[in-house]
Amino acid sequence: MLRRIAFMGAIAAMCICGLCTSALAQESAPKKIIALKAARLITSFDDTVVKNGVVIIEGDRIKGVGAGLQIPANAEVIDLGDATLLPGLIDAHTHLLSELDGTISMRGGDDWLSVVATQSTAQRALLGAKNGREDLEAGITTVRDVGNSGVNGDVALRRAIEHGWVPGPRMITSTRALAAQGGQFGRLIPEAQSIIEQEYVTIHGAESARQAVRQALYDGATCIKVIVNGTPANVTLDEMKAIVEEAHTSSVKVAAHAIGDAATRIAAEAGVDSIEHAYVVKDDVLQMMAEKHIYLVPTDGTLKTFEDMSFGTRQPTEAERSKAEEEFGPFVKLEQDRLRRAIKFGVPIAAGSDMYLSIPGLNRGQASLLLYEAYAESGMTAMQIIHAATRDAADLLGMKNHVGTLEAGKLADIIAVPGDPMSDVKTLEHANFVMKGGTVIVEKK
Ligand SMILES: [Zn+2]
Repeated sequence: MLRRIAFMGAIAAMCICGLCTSALAQESAPKKIIALKAARLITSFDDTVVKNGVVIIEGDRIKGVGAGLQIPANAEVIDLGDATLLPGLIDAHTHLLSELDGTISMRGGDDWLSVVATQSTAQRALLGAKNGREDLEAGITTVRDVGNSGVNGDVALRRAIEHGWVPGPRMITSTRALAAQGGQFGRLIPEAQSIIEQEYVTIHGAESARQAVRQALYDGATCIKVIVNGTPANVTLDEMKAIVEEAHTSSVKVAAHAIGDAATRIAAEAGVDSIEHAYVVKDDVLQMMAEKHIYLVPTDGTLKTFEDMSFGTRQPTEAERSKAEEEFGPFVKLEQDRLRRAIKFGVPIAAGSDMYLSIPGLNRGQASLLLYEAYAESGMTAMQIIHAATRDAADLLGMKNHVGTLEAGKLADIIAVPGDPMSDVKTLEHANFVMKGGTVIVEKK
């Protein structure tokens, strides 16, 4: 041991990178101990709210959780007062490397095509770094980023975060989404069709689908995203089964974008791990999802969110507002009905924002958390929403042994929100303390 330290010391003396000396320091220095105190604590392990919550952190892990725990003498104590401690939030459906202007795209204007034709993957990765930081500062400590990130830009961002080059949440990355002919671009003339592969991998039969999964894994995917809906043809059941089998062979999960009876049915029958959106889905498909433990990721919004996206900073006239209500109202009702039915059938729910449109006055992290208001309007309780955004999302991401609940041994991804989220779910939008892996990211006094 002594010889090893002496050897490392010799390297550190020669080295100019700084990493060697910090490695040496880590080996000899005891791990920092922090004790967090707050009026309330929700572990998200079950439905209880603990009074006088204490969480003890050693290094990057949680060492103890409970009411009025004994605090070690050498701990740094952070007393958050009238706040509630919770696990870091998880967004199971992000597009960190994309941003569209809602005032244009909600009116059928600019779309992915113009993004892909004008923004390099490098530029989008830098946008992702901004959005990732904003997510983290809002309390979102883990995301599953599901495509629309150029050619593997999401993997570049994930690695930059892992290296500590930029701050951001833990990321599950899917690389390019697998899709039927045309991806999500609609009809393009033959001369323009080469752009499709800059954003999607189009598959042509079951063997091609298997190969696309293998390529995605080679490119750094830690999740496979499939756009089941296609124009004019969907991904077939045969292709979908091949994708699921190939991904599951490597213990990687499959997220399926599916809207409408045909696509949701194909996804559920193939046994994907989550169905995204599913705005239109029949009861028997929901029942199949519940039986197979397929998550629904309801990427929902409130009427107000849709209006704010479509009008931007402009104050609409009364006539414009009522027209928008006519336009978006039925869609909001549709999502609410689908979420209520899913819960009734016992479909597991993971929170996913699908936020890629700009909302005036809000950064990406703040905009992504508006989702919980939509869930509350559909009748989910505050505790159901918290589970969907922590414990259950961690299960969907395959990360439940590391994050999603406050338990001894798990990574110290912890937030605090002012007041009590049980009485007002909107408090989840205002984290005043954020910790990722034992490092304090935000501490508002
Ligand atoms: Zn999406």
